[in-house]
Amino acid sequence: MTGDGRASGEAGGLHFYLDANATAPLRPEAHEAMAEALAEVGNASSVHGFGRRARRLIEDAREAVAALVGATPAGVVFTGSGTEANNLALTGTGRRRILISAIEHESILQAASNAETIPVREDGRLDLAALEASLRASDEPALLSVMLANNETGVLQPLAEATRLAKAAGALVHCDAVQAVGRIPLEGAALDIDLMSLSAHKLGGPQGVGALVLWCDVPISPLLRGGGQERGRRAGTENVAGISGFGAAAKAALRDLSQSAAQAAWRDRLEASIAAWAPDAVFAGKDAPRLPNTSCFAVPGLKAETQLMALDLAGYAVSAGAACSSGKVQISHVLRAMGFEEALAASAIRVSLGWHSREADLDAFALAWRELYDRKRAQAAASAA
Ligand code: PLP
Repeated sequence: MTGDGRASGEAGGLHFYLDANATAPLRPEAHEAMAEALAEVGNASSVHGFGRRARRLIEDAREAVAALVGATPAGVVFTGSGTEANNLALTGTGRRRILISAIEHESILQAASNAETIPVREDGRLDLAALEASLRASDEPALLSVMLANNETGVLQPLAEATRLAKAAGALVHCDAVQAVGRIPLEGAALDIDLMSLSAHKLGGPQGVGALVLWCDVPISPLLRGGGQERGRRAGTENVAGISGFGAAAKAALRDLSQSAAQAAWRDRLEASIAAWAPDAVFAGKDAPRLPNTSCFAVPGLKAETQLMALDLAGYAVSAGAACSSGKVQISHVLRAMGFEEALAASAIRVSLGWHSREADLDAFALAWRELYDRKRAQAAASAA
């Protein structure tokens, strides 16, 4: 490491990494648990001692993940990603009528391509009146899928109210809580939902592990067949090391929950600085309840690609729109659903903090952003002269 926190020979150290909504760094606890699990041998389905040890690791992790979301361990189905959990939820209940919000992750949008879409308001929150009207429009029992926190803006959805409306209409409720879990206490938010998707790598666990958590007794039809693992709900030999890492990260995330709340004040200070330097900056979902770790903002005329490249040169990793599926800059369907004009949406960047972030990281980022902003403004003034 150099004195400024950069890992030598690399573009930037962990403190320059402000893209935790794409993926968070692996927590040391998860790393350790995975290394220990990798040193073991044994298939969790085997009855001998080696197999029983692998089984123990999986069941310990199941308890930790269940505790993080207030579920019972028997309701936790480990999957290969949050994407798989979403696909399992949307196909597994057998409900053909599916309602989703307009700002869901691609893995929901594509898993339910015939779904009815409920709009969001300008602040990025689900339009509850539109939801109520859609629920009333048919007697067919529905599945409602609403995320808890949006990955691009951090805006928290009115899950408790949406669930109440859905339940009154006899619908099942699925929540993609991939971005929220481990960052905010779930408290009443998860009350009464039936299915919830999680992903290990957003909370400091490994990539390639997720879970679908079930509260309902509706049988789930598996996506993957060919084995009785996960109580017949997901066939295939379990990823013992990945699941162990997920369990360790879940425990650490639960322990650190109060720390992540402090990030809201750091984020608000960053936004206040940017608003002072660039009075025309627009902050997506600023007036709505949001995750403490996320800021999504756009300055008219300052393209996201330009910002990303300049910030990358300065060592900072942030993202434009949703980076986790395509890796290329596309106009965000989320910002469009919130009424952003195309040009403004093309200027939006997302800064997202993780368990590793410090207050000083955002302060340093703010200065780097100001430098880029002043430089671009001076260039624009020179070419206009
Ligand atoms: N749901 C949301 C809201 C996400 O942000 C993501 C990933 O960014 C996913 C689901 C998919 O999770 P995974 O990367 O584990 O497939």
